[in-house]
Order: sequence, then C-alpha cells, then structure tokens
Amino acid sequence: MIRNPLKDKERISQAMTQPLTIALSKGRILDDTLPLLAEAGIHPAEDIKKSRKLIFDTNHEHIKLVVIRATDVPTYVEYGAADLGVAGKDVLMEYSSSNLCEPLDLNIATCRLMTAALKNAELPVGRLKVATKFVNVAKRYFAEQGRQVDIIKLYGGMELAPIMGLADLIVDIVDTGSTLKANGLEALDLIAPISSRLVASRASMKVKHSQIQPIIDQMAAAVERQRNA
Ligand code: AMP
Repeated sequence: MIRNPLKDKERISQAMTQPLTIALSKGRILDDTLPLLAEAGIHPAEDIKKSRKLIFDTNHEHIKLVVIRATDVPTYVEYGAADLGVAGKDVLMEYSSSNLCEPLDLNIATCRLMTAALKNAELPVGRLKVATKFVNVAKRYFAEQGRQVDIIKLYGGMELAPIMGLADLIVDIVDTGSTLKANGLEALDLIAPISSRLVASRASMKVKHSQIQPIIDQMAAAVERQRNA
C-alpha cells in the first residue's frame, strides 16, 4: 500500500484540539521509536539525538515529545503530565499500576526478562538471594514459584552480584546473552518476553480518546508495516 504522509498528518491534526504530550524512553528504545513515529507522520522539529533538550516540538502544532528515563515514563503518564508514553514491558511490569493501559505492542527493543546464575552453580535448596533492579517483578515471580527469597536491590551491573557472593541468582534483561556469557553466567528461566509498549492512562484514554486513538491507529499501521517488511 502506498502511504500518503500528508493524509496521516491531516488525520492526526484534525483530531487535535488540546495539546498532547508523548513521553519517550531515552536510549536504545528511542532509536527504535523515532522511525515508528516518523512512519506514523510525527516528526520532531529538531534532531532529538543531537540535542540536550528534554522537550521537543513536532510537525503537529499540538503534539510535543518529552525524552526521559525509561523508568520515569509510567509516572509521567499515570499523573497526566504526558498523555501517551513509550516504555519497555519490563519497566511497566515493575511499575505495575492499574491506572495504566497498553493500547499497542510496538514490537521494538525486544528482549527477555530472565533469571541467571553463575554457570553450573549449585543453587541452595532453601532461601535464595536474588539481586535485581526489578524488585517487584522478582517478588511476584518467586512468590508464584513458591520460592522463599531475599531480594537485593541493585541499580546496575547485576552480573557482578553472583561473582562477588552477594546473590545466588539475578533477575535481568537478556538480549543476545553476551553480557551474561562475558561474566561467566548463564540464563536459567524466562520470566517474560519483553518489547516496548505504547502506554496511556485509563483516564486520558477516556478524556482524550478522539486525539489519542488516531495516533494509536497510525502507529499500529506502522508496526504492521515494519512487521511485514
Ligand atoms: P545482551 O548482552 O545482548 O544480552 O544485553 C544485555 C544487557 O543489555 C542487559 O543487561 C540490559 O541492561 C541491556 N538491554 C538489552 N536489551 C535491552 C532492552 N530491550 N531494553 C533494556 N535493556 C536492554
């Protein structure tokens, strides 16, 4: 199908009456999000990756983009400071708010949330020490498994924890597995497959439905085109 970008822009702009803010996760998710937004007819007014600014105008008078830490995206969206957001499922699982909904799986930044341990390690049969930045996810996962665990919150470099004897297991993101391998660890159990999602608050989905839905539709079409490319 031949796309008409002007038509996309008109469709989104026509529905606009109030300002609309989309919160984007910076880093690797941003690299994959910008082409999708562009395909959906939303273009930042300047090069986001070359700027130190946090807020950007777009080719749509009413749409602004803010670029923030992935873990802050659900907070901005839940409190209504942003109307839509893009965040990894890992971040959304950890934030876990019933006020948020995920109207679209963007199928980008795909990876897996897994448990991992030192290669061939014998894990204790009793209480396990688990290091992770995904404290809530880990608590829920091991409770479901009926395992008693002590969760140790870390902010990065989780692979070091088993090496230093701080933890028996880690819960972390695995993509190629090379970070685990380079540190003598192996992936064990899959907790969840991860991809980035469009996120909105249930409140703004109702109140700004006529503005938000055309953006979701355009992005869904862009995801579908990428899937079939
Ligand atoms: P890898 O060595 O390819 O398995 O990558 C693992 C590391 O990259 C993890 O420790 C994560 O911090 C990071 N990473 C890889 N993919 C993603 C993603 N989609 N979202 C967030 N972090 C990721």
